[in-house]
Order: sequence, then structure tokens, then C-alpha cells
Amino acid sequence: MATVKLVEVVKQFGEVVAVDHITLTIRDGEFFCLLGPSGSGKTTLLRLIAGLEYPTEGEIYIDDRLVNDVHPKDRDVAMVFQNYALYPHMKVFDNIAFPLYMRKKKLGLTKEDIRKKVVEVARLLRIEHLLDRKPSQLSGGEQQRVALARALVREPKVFLMDEPLSNLDAKLRLYMRTELRRLQEKLGVTTIYVTHDQVEAMSMADRIAVMNKGRVQQVGTPEELYEKPGNLFVAGFIGVPPMNFIECEIVEKDNEYFLDCRKLKRKLDKEIALKILESGYGPEIVLGVRPEHLSISKEPLEDSVETEVFLSEPLGSEVIVNVKVGERVVKVRAPPGTKYRIGEKVYLKINWDKIHLFDKKTEKAIL
Ligand code: ATP
Repeated sequence: MATVKLVEVVKQFGEVVAVDHITLTIRDGEFFCLLGPSGSGKTTLLRLIAGLEYPTEGEIYIDDRLVNDVHPKDRDVAMVFQNYALYPHMKVFDNIAFPLYMRKKKLGLTKEDIRKKVVEVARLLRIEHLLDRKPSQLSGGEQQRVALARALVREPKVFLMDEPLSNLDAKLRLYMRTELRRLQEKLGVTTIYVTHDQVEAMSMADRIAVMNKGRVQQVGTPEELYEKPGNLFVAGFIGVPPMNFIECEIVEKDNEYFLDCRKLKRKLDKEIALKILESGYGPEIVLGVRPEHLSISKEPLEDSVETEVFLSEPLGSEVIVNVKVGERVVKVRAPPGTKYRIGEKVYLKINWDKIHLFDKKTEKAIL
């Protein structure tokens, strides 16, 4: 097991800055996700840790050992790729045993030692019955488990995984997520897992680094990122359906302060309003509110505003109702069973205790 530490790591490909001054510490035994949209630098960061790329600047440590100049094979990390990369001409047994064959002398392993290790790891991944087959005779999920077994058999200090489940169908992916997480917890190997799927990251990770444009936007547990997003990017990236954003302005009238979002208006505590403005934020603000913190009713309620149904999406366990607030469409999470017609008049209420405020200029969270 190991910690992985990155200090001000930069990776440039010519003009392209793929990784831009990243400082991160991944703790011993942690399941850590690198999450971000396509092109945000996740794979490059993983390849830097693996030693498949050399950093333009900065330092990479595995267990306090500076590894910038250490060859990939001497870093004691194992990488699992999206495309499995199995050897097609070898049986499953030999695919799994391959890393041990390569280190047979160094580790002083006998043929019997290797057989035992392969069978043990195959049993763990429930592929014992497939050891005599070739990769072409396996399903995608089975191939993926062989690739994991091959990485595991080496007992590496760190597991690096680059979208390992993305070639699987939706049902198998869900199953493998649980399996992989259970396996990691059992083995306790520090794991760095790249994905662009926020649900995958949220459901698997101990902590997540959200990346965009080569930079880390925020690091936190799934709960921290969901409840306290540090900026607009993270707020919009984490959560399905995503957080609703409504443009507002802090306005003053007769020494009273309001958050004015056209159709929606709310008195602001004077102290809070002044604190925001004195910090250089606002007056233009983006109000963020998650669909579960909005509610709609067919009759007006105290503090509700009249809106119109744009589209209703019944999902079985809930209904996502899209309603119009001025020119904007916001998503509201509603209990199942109620039917809403397009164009129907409904009344929208915000749980003001659960709102997020972001500064429009800097996109930073201010409340
Ligand atoms: P995806 O989810 O699509 O795999 P990613 O977040 O993993 O994306 P990277 O593959 O790390 O992103 O790429 C980050 C940026 O660096 C992109 O703009 C990409 O085009 C660029 N890049 C990556 N590898 C190279 C390379 N070998 N040469 C030039 N540019 C590269």
C-alpha cells in the first residue's frame, strides 16, 4: 500500500497544457477518482503517475520516494485500461500469469508458486472456470475481470485504472462497480480511478478530484462535493439531474437588500448582503438550487410563484418536472404519481435554506 503525492505537476504537449499545476495527495488505501469531462487531463495525470509520461514541471512521489526518474516497471504500480489489452494468443491463465513470468527470477518464484497465485486471484474475481479459454472466447465483463486479475496478481502498491468499465453494457457496468469497490476495500490497495461519469465516481470513491481544463477544481468526498460545491463548474457537474442555475442580482432599496431573480425575489439579511458586496462579489449572482430543493403544487402556497409546465419526465420512482421561470427551464424533483400536462399552470417553491450562491464574474461559491 502507498500514498501518492503530486506537487505542482505540469504536463505540456507543445502548446497544449494537459495538466496545469496540480498538487494532490492520495492517501494510503484510498479509492480516489479523477473526474472530469473529456480533455480535462485525467488520463495524462494517470499516465504521469504510471511513468508513461514525463512531467514538464513538478514532482511525483510514491510513498515519499520521488519517482520522476523511476522507470514505470520499477514504480510498483499496475494499470488497467479501458480496452483491457489482453494477449489474444494466450489463454486466460497465461494472461494473468504474465506479470509473474516477467519477474519470476527477481521474485524467486517457482512454477507452482505462480499457479497458486493465479488460481487465488482468479477465484477472487470468480473467473476460475475460464482459465483455459482464450480472450476471444470471453464476454466483455469476463475480459475485464481477466485484466483486473492480471493487475492484481502482482500485488502492486498502487492500482491505476483508466475508465475500466466504459466498454461494458449498463447492467454489467453497475455490477462491476460494486464488485470492484468491494475488491478494493478487501485488498486495501491505493487506487486511482479515472472516469468522466459522475455517478460512477460518486458511487465508488472515498474522495474525488473534479478536473477541468487541466486543473483540479475541487477535492472532496462525494458528500462534500454535492453539498458544498466550490464553484459553478463543480456544482453543475455533480448531481443528476444537475443543479439549476438562475441569474440574479443583489439590489438595495430603502436600506434593505434583496436577491432579485426577476420572478423570484428574496429579502437578504443585511449583514450577509454587505459581506458579499464588500468581499468584491456580486452584485451579479448566480443562484444554484438542486431539483430536490424545489417543489411544485397545483394550488398557490405561501411564497410560491406561478409557473408553467414545460415537460414532465416520469421516471418511475420520481417525476422530473421541467417548469419555466422567465426564459429559463428549471428541473424539479417531484414524487411519483402526479400527472403534469405541458403548459399547465403550477406553483413553484424554493427551499431557501438549501440554496447556493455563486459570484457571476469569478464563478466561485460565496454561500
Ligand atoms: P478523455 O476523457 O477524453 O480521455 P482526459 O480528461 O483523459 O480526456 P487527456 O487525454 O489527459 O484528457 O488530454 C488532455 C489534453 O491533452 C487534451 O487536450 C488532449 O488533446 C491533450 N493531449 C493528450 N495527450 C496528448 C499527446 N500525446 N499529444 C498532444 N496532446 C495531447
